[in-house]
Amino acid sequence: MKKAILVMLICLLVCTGCSLGKETSERESASRELFAMDTIMTLTVYGEHAQEVLDLAEAEIERLDQMLSTGNPEGEIGTLNRTGKVNLSDDAAYLFEESLKLNDMSENAFNPMIYPVMEAWGFTTDEYRVPSKEEIGQILPLVDLSLAEYQEETGVLQFRKEGVKIDFGGIAKGYTSGRLMELFQENGIEDAVVSLGGNVQVIGKNPKQELWKVAIRDPQDPSGFLGIVRVTDQAVITSGGYERYFEEDGKRYHHIIDPNDGFPADQGLISVTVISRDGTLADGLSTALYVMGLNRAEELWKQHPDLFDAVFVTDSNELYITEGLKECFTSDTYTVKIIPE
Ligand code: ADP
Ligand code: MG
Repeated sequence: MKKAILVMLICLLVCTGCSLGKETSERESASRELFAMDTIMTLTVYGEHAQEVLDLAEAEIERLDQMLSTGNPEGEIGTLNRTGKVNLSDDAAYLFEESLKLNDMSENAFNPMIYPVMEAWGFTTDEYRVPSKEEIGQILPLVDLSLAEYQEETGVLQFRKEGVKIDFGGIAKGYTSGRLMELFQENGIEDAVVSLGGNVQVIGKNPKQELWKVAIRDPQDPSGFLGIVRVTDQAVITSGGYERYFEEDGKRYHHIIDPNDGFPADQGLISVTVISRDGTLADGLSTALYVMGLNRAEELWKQHPDLFDAVFVTDSNELYITEGLKECFTSDTYTVKIIPE
């Protein structure tokens, strides 16, 4: 099922360029599908040396996957979680610093120290279980960024307490798609689109020389789309409770956790898409705004309308967009409500 959805999304992205004009069809292009970071990725680039550039892109994805995967005990994050100390690479140092900013900006809705809680719910092993409130209560004090001490001069990150673990899963894919855009541009590619498990980032234009059209999955019916956003040089990243969850005693438990209580976030949103030039920010904020709920998310956007835009779906099937998307978002299935600045 999940695969079918991804194939549809990939098709939609690629098919926006299906009716190639003569001029553009002569241009070199290449597309590649691969599996990394626990998800299916598709990369499409237009320009000279397209295949070689995709080789570089694939190597970059593998490098970051090895480095950031919590499941790789020898990688940087694996080592940190195992030993409580590691020398951070530039990439991981950047992710740590961005996490601090996101944590601050979202008033703790985004917190990469959530990993021990993810373990308690079985999301890290797929052996799902509902932990008791007492168990969560004992783990929750570990979810605290002040327990991670980073020394900029030496580059060493060290945990101050036993049991603390970190996970950049909430921003790693957005960071990776951002890195790919940089790599494409450094190598002369002006037009490209990548989808990392449905998280999309684009540069330039589609083969028709129009804005890229990115479909956003419908949380009510994840085989369909809630609408389309037309963008250039942006990341379009969605967090949804429908993406990863399990059911027990008729109740659904999803993988976006509220760091304040250690339980799946339940603030009335079922999907949040963030559109921003910055992939890392878009990814982190999609998780954070989901945890914050519509009212607080709206407040945060009003403080930073130039930094990002967002599409929200509530559990009562209402769809809201921030004003910046007024001209570039369309939906056939929802009545679109606009959040003014
Ligand atoms: P996905 O990675 O499935 O596309 P998200 O970007 O929303 O979805 O990230 C969810 C992942 O982020 C979880 O699998 C978990 O590793 C981590 N996570 C969950 N809750 C939080 C949180 N409140 N703050 C930071 N990271 C979180
Ligand atoms: Mg995210």
